[in-house]
Amino acid sequence: MSSRPPKIPFVNLSLQHQPIQPQIVAEIGKIIEQGDFILGHALAEFETAFAAASGVQYGVGVACGTDAIALGLQACDINPGDEIIVPANTFIATIIAVIQAKAIPILVDCDPETALIDLTAAETAITSKTKAIIPVHLYGQMVSPSQLLDFANRHNLIIFEDAAQAHLAEREGYRAGSIGKAAAFSFYPSKNLGCFGDGGMLITNDAELAKTMRTFRNYGALSKYLHTEIGTNSRLDNLQAAILNIKLPYLEQWNRDRNLAAQHYNTLLEPLKHKGIVPIANHSSLGHIYHIYAIQITEKSPIDRHTLQEKLAQEGIQTGIHYPVPCHLQPAYQNLGNRGDFPRAETLCEQILSLPMYPGLSNTQIEQVVKAIERSLNC
Ligand SMILES: *Cc1c(COP(=O)(O)O)cnc(C)c1O
Repeated sequence: MSSRPPKIPFVNLSLQHQPIQPQIVAEIGKIIEQGDFILGHALAEFETAFAAASGVQYGVGVACGTDAIALGLQACDINPGDEIIVPANTFIATIIAVIQAKAIPILVDCDPETALIDLTAAETAITSKTKAIIPVHLYGQMVSPSQLLDFANRHNLIIFEDAAQAHLAEREGYRAGSIGKAAAFSFYPSKNLGCFGDGGMLITNDAELAKTMRTFRNYGALSKYLHTEIGTNSRLDNLQAAILNIKLPYLEQWNRDRNLAAQHYNTLLEPLKHKGIVPIANHSSLGHIYHIYAIQITEKSPIDRHTLQEKLAQEGIQTGIHYPVPCHLQPAYQNLGNRGDFPRAETLCEQILSLPMYPGLSNTQIEQVVKAIERSLNC
């Protein structure tokens, strides 16, 4: 492995930060002067703005996306032993949060084309203990709201969206986070909207739920030193919120840039389909915000995923795998299932590769990536 920086990195955050850096530095200076660090003015402003942008009334900033799910589930009255349906192919944080909420994650296989949870497979996971479903809007594409609402209504389930990869994604007229009872977002730096550390938010239209969440994140305090819940300490820092306030107005444009880049990839990769290079399907057109642009290297390909990734790395093209091992095959989570239980998720984990994707990725760079893939397949 060469230690030179990649010619085309997997993500490039400095591109988006350069033009707004002076504004961010000035805002941080202001907050230092005011000493407004915890549950401050910028946080309240960002909570309102981000919830509104997502088509929802209330936002509650917390320390990270994982906490937004874990505390959010508890605020939704999920009790110990309740079963929650989750996709088998998600980032492990979805599962961690369910376990932190003392509920039981019930894994379900995914759709082979979109990699999103397969709601037909979810039918067979329903028991008398099933209380909720967590759709994960994986890679920036929403699970179909109409199908989700139909499924949840028929089984009387709470919908709690894991929208950590889907800031302002859209499908069927819904924005991510506005379908169900509540939704969780992450502002980890490399998410489509990221801060300069860890951050997260729960959004909801339910005023009571928002109020409970506000106590949970702040030592369970309804007002100072009145502890109505046990709660914890999990707040989005005011400094991080101030940075997010500055970044939020750019998000739609950044998402559009990603979608355009994905369309360019799709067009250029089309002739490689017969050679086993298949982009993960987009069923939501411009509403897909492409947190990740993933392709699948199927059995038809002359080379496997590992070889392709190595060859691209040799050409200075950095790629990722989201995710290489499904949750039920991770050492700490062996009680969630056995090999063979979720075959489509298992196959995807072995065959997917995430290509460089960020706002500012140029068409020339995309062409270079696809050319490098072509060369790898031909030798
Ligand atoms: C990033 C992510 C999370 C966790 O967010 P953190 O802020 O890192 O805690 C949860 N679910 C999914 C799908 C994610 O991508």
